[in-house]
Amino acid sequence: MSVVSDSRTGTRLRIKASEMRVAEASKSYGDAHFRTDVVKDCSFTIERSKLTVMIGPSGCGKSTMIRLLAGFEAPSAGTITIDDKKVTGPGLDRLVLFQETALYPWMTTYDNVLYGPRARGATNKETLELAEFLLNKVGLQAFRDKYPMQLSGGMQRRAELARAMINNPHVMILDEPFRGLDAMTKELMWEYYSSLYEENRRTNFFVTTDIDEAIFLADRLLIMSNIPCRVRAVLEVDVPRPRKLAEVVENDRANQIKMEALSILHEEAMKSFSRGSKAAADFVEAYSKRMKG
Ligand code: ADP
Repeated sequence: MSVVSDSRTGTRLRIKASEMRVAEASKSYGDAHFRTDVVKDCSFTIERSKLTVMIGPSGCGKSTMIRLLAGFEAPSAGTITIDDKKVTGPGLDRLVLFQETALYPWMTTYDNVLYGPRARGATNKETLELAEFLLNKVGLQAFRDKYPMQLSGGMQRRAELARAMINNPHVMILDEPFRGLDAMTKELMWEYYSSLYEENRRTNFFVTTDIDEAIFLADRLLIMSNIPCRVRAVLEVDVPRPRKLAEVVENDRANQIKMEALSILHEEAMKSFSRGSKAAADFVEAYSKRMKG
């Protein structure tokens, strides 16, 4: 258990970070003749207090894996555990942040941030202080009384981060949360998000298709195969923290890991491409451009 404190307000946030294990998990849909194996014999660990990023091409089964981790669906085979306890359904220990905006349009930023504790009837002095602390951390104090439509896209995502973190989950799971933001806002979000992580060292699992996002954020990078979803490689992103984008872009080690990751992803895409997948063809094209750039 770690404690994060804000010297200005005196707020103390106790963080419990859990560890999750996926062991030989498979998930298929449909009956015998039309069965699709989306995840097959997949094993990995989401290590305690680390930021694990999963990268793989669209359609490789990442969202399916998130539904299994969250307990929204059960694996067809294998097991998923949190701190050695089997996941049998959703729980307050895990929180999923999806890419779609989840803010209520009729609530102010402040009310949106406090939504979770209020819905559970768990508002007290500590949660109210925590709301202030988080609003500060995501730079939205001045926008506390604004409604979502009065916020920019980046501000909305920051409000969502605060709204998720106030629930203090033991594992935060994020499914491409910054997709659809323009490039500059996205980069700003990476810095906000990573500094929140660096401060609280909660266990985070972040899914993306963006290699630059993956390298900037990750402690550990899981590179997935094309469908059925399986871990193709695990790379330790041993780039020092706190990270600043301007420094990571220039960092030789980060660039070396990026090239390694891209070459594995390219190989995966080529395999599917040779099997005639249109999605893989798009992927090969997109990633070839990145390699040149
Ligand atoms: P990703 O998040 O990597 O884009 P998804 O997990 O959304 O991948 O989907 C992977 C594949 O699994 C898709 O091609 C889709 O056809 C298939 N799939 C996902 N959910 C279902 C379902 N409920 N029934 C049938 N097929 C599904």
